Amino acid sequence: MIPYGRQSVDDDDIAAVTAVLKGDWLTQGPAVDEFEARLCELTGARHAVAFSSGTAALHAACAAAGLGPGDRVATSALTFAASAACATYVGATPVVVDVDPATWNLDPARVPADVEALVAVHYAGLPLDLATLARRPRVVIEDAAHALGARTPDGPVGNCAHSDLCCFSFHPVKVVTTGEGGAVTTNDAELAAALRRFGRHGVVPRPDLGGWAYEIAEEGHNLRLSDIAAALGTSQLAKLERFVTRRNELADRYRVLLADLPVGLPPAAPVGGRHAYHLFPVQVPARRHVYDALRADEVMVQVHYVPLYRHPRFAADPAGYPATEAVYAGLLSLPLFPDLTGDEQDRVVDVLARALEGTAA
Ligand SMILES: *Cc1c(COP(=O)(O)O)cnc(C)c1O
Repeated sequence: MIPYGRQSVDDDDIAAVTAVLKGDWLTQGPAVDEFEARLCELTGARHAVAFSSGTAALHAACAAAGLGPGDRVATSALTFAASAACATYVGATPVVVDVDPATWNLDPARVPADVEALVAVHYAGLPLDLATLARRPRVVIEDAAHALGARTPDGPVGNCAHSDLCCFSFHPVKVVTTGEGGAVTTNDAELAAALRRFGRHGVVPRPDLGGWAYEIAEEGHNLRLSDIAAALGTSQLAKLERFVTRRNELADRYRVLLADLPVGLPPAAPVGGRHAYHLFPVQVPARRHVYDALRADEVMVQVHYVPLYRHPRFAADPAGYPATEAVYAGLLSLPLFPDLTGDEQDRVVDVLARALEGTAA
């Protein structure tokens, strides 16, 4: 069986986790601090706050930015539900935007003028260059769940060069993993403090009133990452370069191997940018047949994603999303992860080629 994505966990990762299990802290302690510091180094952001998931990170980002009822929050039609659901968690209203056929990211020209915020998704790991936004809403949040290790001409994704907050996910299929986990980076100290309060019950220490004293004035949740998970994350971050380099090698190789097949290839990174290739989505004819044929041969392809407006929760007329509909029609993610071997990749392409023979050219 070849999955579409899989974590790479080695003995050094296991040793890092074991060391925490033998120590004094299991939940938030020095391993979380270290993980956050490494994220700052790698992204160039001033602050990083770890969360229990990427979804929790998006929720906290919306709350810290002060979004709430009456606010309209734009995001891409071609994304995971959490990119839009995070707005609803704070009582705001998601606004689903059609993609740009050239990038498969949200089309910056189609962001309505009246939105308070934008949740900019870097689909598949190709960064949406926020420098190209014609009008900047009050709040710009990046959903970089796919894009740790990616770069724009302004540097690493996560440096918040053109955003207020940048959210990552460390789910096992993402670029690095903590099991479940997420983080937000920002250059704004007040936003960083608000993120920490929100994920830690709204607690504000009040040492002026006694060593024990704290105060809760705002809504808060328990969205903490554990030290166990953070130790895995720090160990994984040491391999980020290798992982992303390998993902790019495999993606380049797919482009060569697929060149003579009736398959649409995903947009590549522009000059000066770097793709993180969380996913390698292609477009195939007769997707249902191809999907079933690949799965029957144990090549576990997946579709990323059913567009938001096709879910009852975010329902809108597909006719309003011609570019997303065109991308979605044959969309299929091929297996891509650092430990995918050349032989396995050859097998994926062979099985795909056979499946395509059954479709009318
Ligand atoms: C994975 C993902 C998330 C959510 O991350 P979790 O860690 O699974 O909660 C959010 N947005 C996008 C685009 C994702 O792919």
